Amino acid sequence: MTAPILFDYKEVVGPDIIEELTILASHVGNRSIKMVNSTAVGGGVAEMLRRVVPLLNDLGVKATWDVIKGEEEFFEITKSFHNALQGKEEYFHEDVFKTYLKYNEMNNREMEFDEDLIVIHDPQPAALIHWNQNRKNRWVWRCHIDLSHPNQQLWEFLKPYVEQYDAAIFSSALFSPELAIPQYRFYPAIDPLDDKNRELDASYVDGVFEKYGIPRDKPIVTQVSRYDPWKDPVGVVQAFKMARKYVDCRLLLVGDKAADDPETDKVLAKVKAEAGDDPDIHLLLFSPSIATEINAFQRGSDIVLQKSLREGFALTVSEALWKSRPVIGGAVGGIPAQIIDEYTGLLVHSPEGASLAIRSLLTQPDLANKVGKNGHQRVKDEFLITKNLKRYLLLLLALDRPQEETIFLH
Ligand code: UDP
Repeated sequence: MTAPILFDYKEVVGPDIIEELTILASHVGNRSIKMVNSTAVGGGVAEMLRRVVPLLNDLGVKATWDVIKGEEEFFEITKSFHNALQGKEEYFHEDVFKTYLKYNEMNNREMEFDEDLIVIHDPQPAALIHWNQNRKNRWVWRCHIDLSHPNQQLWEFLKPYVEQYDAAIFSSALFSPELAIPQYRFYPAIDPLDDKNRELDASYVDGVFEKYGIPRDKPIVTQVSRYDPWKDPVGVVQAFKMARKYVDCRLLLVGDKAADDPETDKVLAKVKAEAGDDPDIHLLLFSPSIATEINAFQRGSDIVLQKSLREGFALTVSEALWKSRPVIGGAVGGIPAQIIDEYTGLLVHSPEGASLAIRSLLTQPDLANKVGKNGHQRVKDEFLITKNLKRYLLLLLALDRPQEETIFLH
């Protein structure tokens, strides 16, 4: 399938939204933007950039995407940064910071930053700014992670780098730290026409479940997530086992291995130990997964779980809601922006809560249908890629006019 172009979204979001984007883009003019992150595949950031970058180009913005390089020692460190910024207790030796800076410096030497706007995603490349202090262009730090309880030692190390940016963007106002630079809130977004989310034939969905040997003789409860402690796959297995004492169902855990995530094997081993030899628990590990198959797993599930303990946003929630699936989500980070409890899904705080929610949805089809339908509408209103394009266009306009409180487009 050829990638959709901007015009194709008219069918989904209506002509007014496309016209609005075109008008905004005409005010932005011939600007260039470079996105920088640390992995081309795996995880939500890569997922979004893969689609936002070509669509910005469709709008006439010259958008490019670079991925920084690093050895295993660098990604071990940045994964521990990720965990600590989300609240894990950890003490960092000074050498860890030195190694982190060494890789940022190496990447800086190999990269060029000539675009009008540079958007650095997440902590891995955040220090690149240090070697670009005499820049003429604008730099923004886009933080996708849950920064509500950051490890103080690490945040004190990173904050001076973050404050060298022209602005910072967070996925929720809940994460906004005190900073000496302007801040913006961007919700992440999904692409309704991408292979991950587009409509699929029922026969294709059936075929995917068959291919991986997952019988559909009972309701299927699924979590699609990297095997990461914050996604709480162990808690998902516990919730499933409690629920299954009352309602018959199967559990499907689908995860892939991001190139910058060294933790997968350890977490998967814990999940396997918790699951034991239960024939109703199906664990799949991909590297990488196929978008249409993930789409099929989400569409073919009776319930989709995202039982995270910390979460920047969780694209998986919007993906499942878009497919009108009833979703159970951990009440953390960006999930409550998507799930309004008992209206667009169910929010939970523990494996016990998740097990109760599974039982409620499997025994009350009206509730399951209602939250699924409302969830679809919520995603349509707030979390589609067209909204994200609008935010980037507005950001380009706002950064050009730092002194103006209101920007008039005439
Ligand atoms: N994903 C996938 N295959 C998998 C697991 C996840 O394609 O096996 C995708 C998922 O559909 C979503 C993204 O990776 O688009 C994960 O984004 P999210 O914001 O939920 O979590 P993150 O991994 O960024 O913490």
